[in-house]
Amino acid sequence: MQISSQKVATFHYTLTNDDDEVLDSSDGGDPLAYIHGTGNLISGLEQHLEGKGAGDQFMAAIAAAQAYGERDEELVQTLGKESFAEIEDLRVGLQLEASGDDDESRIVTVVAVEGDRVTVDGNHPLAGQTLHFDVNVVSVREATATELDHGHVHGPGGHHH
Ligand code: ZN
Repeated sequence: MQISSQKVATFHYTLTNDDDEVLDSSDGGDPLAYIHGTGNLISGLEQHLEGKGAGDQFMAAIAAAQAYGERDEELVQTLGKESFAEIEDLRVGLQLEASGDDDESRIVTVVAVEGDRVTVDGNHPLAGQTLHFDVNVVSVREATATELDHGHVHGPGGHHH
């Protein structure tokens, strides 16, 4: 069976950046499970998985636009420390949930704390980066009606509920 829309596929992967640093990997755990064509994965990776079958192995370099997007410098903001009064352990690298004007919350990362000024970055940590995936497809099957309804995979590598 080949990967196509509404199939459940599982795969092992190692994700590296342009500097060959490993950012993420499924090594030592369950393979990642997803439903093809439902936006579970970044679009560039789905395109490479399309048509692949169990046992297929490939490398894919995915540009930022097909991964987590280009960086948007408008999402970097410097605020007064008083805005973070409730945060006990304010430090560089801390990720916070911020609510924006549109009521949508987004994750921001503290990138600088200088005096009473705090700079946060609302870009995804992988925004602006080309991602290099080393992929090994483990299995492909039909999604169940319940999985399609929930929009996620049940069982190993997916949700347990
Ligand atoms: Zn579910």
